[in-house]
Amino acid sequence: MVTVTVYRDFGVVLRVTKLGEADRIVTLLTRREGRVRAVAKGVRRTKSRFGGRLEPFSHIDLLLYAGRNLDIVTQAVTLDSFGSAIAADYSRYTAASAIVETVERLTSEEHEPSLKLYLLLVSVLRALAETDRDPSLLLDAFLVRSMSLAGWAPALAECARCGEPGPHTAFSIPAGGLLCGGCRSAGVARPAPGAIALMAALASGDWPTAEASDGSMRREASGLVAALLQWHIERGLKSLPLVDRGSVAEPPELLGYPAARQAALVRARVDAISGPLS
Ligand SMILES: [Zn+2]
Repeated sequence: MVTVTVYRDFGVVLRVTKLGEADRIVTLLTRREGRVRAVAKGVRRTKSRFGGRLEPFSHIDLLLYAGRNLDIVTQAVTLDSFGSAIAADYSRYTAASAIVETVERLTSEEHEPSLKLYLLLVSVLRALAETDRDPSLLLDAFLVRSMSLAGWAPALAECARCGEPGPHTAFSIPAGGLLCGGCRSAGVARPAPGAIALMAALASGDWPTAEASDGSMRREASGLVAALLQWHIERGLKSLPLVDRGSVAEPPELLGYPAARQAALVRARVDAISGPLS
């Protein structure tokens, strides 16, 4: 006997890929079911009943058939069309792209509920689409908080190894944050205290402190956040190098990390790979 299961859920579209002539596979992070891949039939026809609702960054109310392999989208109603506002601004678009890619990497299993990650994703996309907050700060706030949800909260006050209360100045990517004098090895990265304070502000949602930070603190914090995340998920995020960190004068092919951010990333990566530096 075959039972047909229909379920309703809210979800954010992470990615859309073509399937045959007219259909698409939509990857979603849903409120109750976690990451789900579903087939949307006829989406690429001009008179599709889904219209433009199944586009990346859209927040939708869905009705799905649970299939043997892939589920099938039977209804989609827009809750928030974040996509058009985000796509209109290059730096917001690249930040949002890095965010949805991170969500896919952090949800290795389908149908594994991730309610907190879903709520965090909706709130960061809403902030990207509807507020003037700096997209680069929003991206880093999302990355720090999603790491915390994954159980990888960086140690930004106490020692990452022994829990000794700070302040500490040595920072190790493999250890996951600051290290005290007793735990640090011969030489580790020593980020500016302002960069650590910025990461802590982003983790706790202290926007007045985060927005008061200067460009060099932001670049250094971004480098540390990216290196920590890459260490944890063991793969580079291919969207990250495209993120526009405010270098507006550069032509599109040169948009990306300013030199200082690159230096922070290289230093953090070297620290991650080889341990002590100096
Ligand atoms: Zn320690």
